[in-house]
Amino acid sequence: MSLVNLLNFDLAELTAFCAQLGEKPFRATQLFRWIHQRGVSQFAEMTDLAKSLRERLPQLATIQPLPVLSRHNSADGTVKWLFDVGEGNAVETVFIPETDRGTLCISSQAGCAVGCRFCSTGHQGFSRNLTTGEILAQLWYAEHTLRRERGQTDRVITNVVMMGMGEPLQNYGALIPALKVMLSDHGYGLSRRRVTVSTSGVVPMIERLAQDCPVALAVSLHAPTDALRDSLVPLNKKYPLAELLAVCRNYLPHAPRDFLTFEYCMLDRVNDQPAHASALIAMLQEQRALGFDCKLNLIPFNPFSDSGLRCSAPTAVERFASQLVRAGFVTTVRKTRGDDIDAACGQLAGDVRDRTSVDARMQALRGVVEQPIQWSNKEERT
Ligand code: SAH
Ligand code: SF4
Repeated sequence: MSLVNLLNFDLAELTAFCAQLGEKPFRATQLFRWIHQRGVSQFAEMTDLAKSLRERLPQLATIQPLPVLSRHNSADGTVKWLFDVGEGNAVETVFIPETDRGTLCISSQAGCAVGCRFCSTGHQGFSRNLTTGEILAQLWYAEHTLRRERGQTDRVITNVVMMGMGEPLQNYGALIPALKVMLSDHGYGLSRRRVTVSTSGVVPMIERLAQDCPVALAVSLHAPTDALRDSLVPLNKKYPLAELLAVCRNYLPHAPRDFLTFEYCMLDRVNDQPAHASALIAMLQEQRALGFDCKLNLIPFNPFSDSGLRCSAPTAVERFASQLVRAGFVTTVRKTRGDDIDAACGQLAGDVRDRTSVDARMQALRGVVEQPIQWSNKEERT
């Protein structure tokens, strides 16, 4: 009989599992806390569980971590792990420490079916959805490994962004229990504003997220018109801008903050011209008039082989950002971090490196975890 992986369960599901064993709900809470708050994977160490349960559990259940294929540490404290999810698939997880927070970027799928033109994960195609347990194993491992290494008992990871590989809203069924564990007081205890789901715009699932688990939302916009967005984010043909903006607007009352973030990947001469900025401003001003406020996060494109695309010139990024700022939109541009581990990525085996597009994900992540600072007042440039 195969063992049940308890990392797959949110607290309600773990309670149901314990009920099947004839155990009271408080036992599930104890077990849940041992797993997520204390990072314990051996039932024998869970000293306040009844001895009979401690002895029974190993025959029925397990706490299954993901095997680590590699780890890279940057001089600035950024850590990047590559996890094996079987059958030649690997996903990556990145920890970015800042003075006031520690952010973990988590993957939701091996590959991605959306196929955005500028994304190497998209170019590789879709392998499979991660399970709830595989999504949470990234957080479980990172949190407890970093705590141990730092000799720390309080939490290291204060923020989670679902911005690793994959489209989280195309793995909705596994995502929601994982988010619930992140938010649970008996789990990781993160507030809703510190957990961000990034999406390329799966409209019906944004609607459902608003009801089921309204965490912070970042929407990958990348273009101000349907024609251009169709060519960059194929999902736009199914869910065009008007629908996407409407669902974002409706999400706002549920959102933990009073704005949403739009991500915009800066592609040389594709979407970075003054006319694009003007069209974007017009579109966002229309939304603002309807009470929908947003912030912009410009991510200079990280090139990869065969993309046929180039990163915008720094002057183009600067010009684009100034136009938005002049129109009153808070705009951030990524700052560079962890360059030394980008170099170290070259040491990964070629096929694994291609599959996980470590460089591209790092670049993308850096842009998004920054504080939303008014770009024009800062010296950060690309
Ligand atoms: N699938 C989700 C979340 C993962 S991608 C989404 O698309 O939002 C996280 C962010 O990285 C997205 O904003 C995406 O547009 C951006 N991104 C992907 N490839 C990139 C690249 N090569 N350079 C810069 N940003 C990239
Ligand atoms: Fe998928 Fe996001 Fe990459 Fe698009 S940008 S292919 S949605 S991971």
